[in-house]
Amino acid sequence: MDAYVIGYIISGIVIILAIIIALVAQVRVNSAFNEYNDKLSSLDMTGAELAQKLSNDNNMNLTVRMCGGHLSDHYDPRDNSINISQSNYSSKSIASQAIVAHEFGHALQHAEGYAPFKIRQAVVKISNIVSSMLMPLLILGILLQIFLLGIAGMVIIYVSVAIYGVAVIANLATLPVEINASSRAKKLMLDLGCNSDEEIHATDKVLNAAALTYVASLLVSLAYFARFLFMMLMVTKRD
Ligand SMILES: [Zn+2]
Repeated sequence: MDAYVIGYIISGIVIILAIIIALVAQVRVNSAFNEYNDKLSSLDMTGAELAQKLSNDNNMNLTVRMCGGHLSDHYDPRDNSINISQSNYSSKSIASQAIVAHEFGHALQHAEGYAPFKIRQAVVKISNIVSSMLMPLLILGILLQIFLLGIAGMVIIYVSVAIYGVAVIANLATLPVEINASSRAKKLMLDLGCNSDEEIHATDKVLNAAALTYVASLLVSLAYFARFLFMMLMVTKRD
């Protein structure tokens, strides 16, 4: 069998495995979060109070606000704000504090001009632009494919290779930034005195589960990229 065909088949299997890993990762995030969402941190502070304290202690003048959605917590570098999901905002649990400390880790990366953070910002901006330009082409290709019987097949393949290629690069740039924010969070929590075995274990578990979701989305985009790449190679070789 042709090497491209073998690659095409294997990448199909990898897509299924990667999607399973992504689902497992999401379940683990929720279960780790729920497990430690009942356990109070020794800090006796809400997520919002912790964010404000970290900001004050580091002279950072961050805006702390509540945002909608479940586990939608994020740092927004455009206005130096830590956006905390509703339940974490008022919760004093170990799980909530681990997440707030992680977001503050991103604020520190931004303030320091940490290079991987800057690279990630630039890559994500470019990848959003590229994807938004390519998406209409992909839809057009699919419509042409449906109505003109196969003429636009190559357009779909080329555009898909480009879209997933850009997604792989964006996910690759994201991973080290997320891992670094989590290791900063672990250290911040230790420095604040959250050093019981349970707190250390809980912080690790919540943050490691979150890191796995980033690994999983990298895997998914990589597998789709390989799939379309082999498809392209198969078709161009046949021509
Ligand atoms: Zn993060």
